Amino acid sequence: MTERPPGFSTLSIHAGAQPDPTTGARATPIYQTTSFVFNDADHAASLFGLQAFGNIYTRIGNPTTAVLEERVAALEGGTAGLATASGHAAQFLAFHTLLQPGDEFVAARKLYGGSINQFNHAFKKFGWNVVWADPDNIESFEKAVTPKTKAIFIESIANPGGGITDIEAIATIARRAGVPLIVDNTLATPYLIRPIDHGADIVVHSLTKFLGGHGNSIGGILVDAGTFDWSRDGRYPTLSEPRPEYHGIRLQETFGNFAFAIAARVLGLRDLGPAISPFNAFLILNGIETLALRVQKHSDNAKAVAEWLSTHPAIAWVNYAGLPGDRYHNLARKYAPKGAGAVFTFGLKGGYDAGVKLVSNVKLFSHLANVGDTRSLVIHPASTTHSQLDDAQKTLAGAGPDVVRLSVGIEDKEDLIADLDQALNA
Ligand SMILES: *Cc1c(COP(=O)(O)O)cnc(C)c1O
Repeated sequence: MTERPPGFSTLSIHAGAQPDPTTGARATPIYQTTSFVFNDADHAASLFGLQAFGNIYTRIGNPTTAVLEERVAALEGGTAGLATASGHAAQFLAFHTLLQPGDEFVAARKLYGGSINQFNHAFKKFGWNVVWADPDNIESFEKAVTPKTKAIFIESIANPGGGITDIEAIATIARRAGVPLIVDNTLATPYLIRPIDHGADIVVHSLTKFLGGHGNSIGGILVDAGTFDWSRDGRYPTLSEPRPEYHGIRLQETFGNFAFAIAARVLGLRDLGPAISPFNAFLILNGIETLALRVQKHSDNAKAVAEWLSTHPAIAWVNYAGLPGDRYHNLARKYAPKGAGAVFTFGLKGGYDAGVKLVSNVKLFSHLANVGDTRSLVIHPASTTHSQLDDAQKTLAGAGPDVVRLSVGIEDKEDLIADLDQALNA
């Protein structure tokens, strides 16, 4: 055996898993149980007091889910993960761990439409105030920071626009401001981009997309990079101050470089409850085993489709960072040299009506609100995912009336191009 650390594909298959010690089962079993028997009363007390690690109740943790958490943490290069019922639940628990009522966070305004809604509306009810910044204008992040700022939030590859974010530049601003950088790495996956390598302190995912990869399970995860000192200046009392729920322990002092993941579990997940089901964790683990193969093919197919679209007479523009000449091409070469992902947008010369017509005429592409399925997907954001926004917000979010978003699947690229061709000519 060599001493070399395992590579990405090896980790995708093995990290966190071992043959089941009782049965020898090689695949990770689905521990479809709500609760776990204690060895004795002392064991029970130590689990509840956080003096020992172990299983209590599946809302707080589960052995199938634990394999998923360890695997994604390994792929992202973090210290620990916490899986949740959905990507939005992971974002919710990340912010719940960091913010108090009246606090602010800075977010890139080019985000998944659901995140824009979550930040603008749901989070406001908790007194967590979003301040929007422009990922194409790095200084706008610096300007948006105030003494109340507790975090900066960006997407590595922005949904729906497909733009690549300059993670290192924004990480520098976060470090200067003394706040953690949270990166939603859903569209890139750790196969294309590992945000922690570029200065992220927390990574969040919708596992629903490429990590699960087969369009069959909703899930999310947050990964703790273990890089942030939460006790430095008292800005993160959840992590630095004694916790009345746990006999006055201080989470960072006790758990060190995975205190954030622990806090999100033992305070956030325990009390707010968005746990993933073990069955979904199992399906997503199966998806992750082929992540490298799938995401490479997704990305190669997307590039071929983008190249073909860019020569089509009905198309006004194609934004795909994998195309030379794209405004994000240099950032793609730096951050995502293996490929620029599978999700991108293009504009139809015929505007809103042409967008509606295209999604009505495709046969192989599915018209639906998802990305990251093996199947190719298409949506017209202005009439669907971003329809809640006004026209100015739509355009700022990269979802103007002429915009169509593709999530290119892993079918044969010739079939995908033929389908778009017939739909555009219909
Ligand atoms: C889908 C998605 C989310 C939300 O995830 P859910 O699993 O649907 O809750 C967050 N961010 C991005 C980039 C997404 O694509």
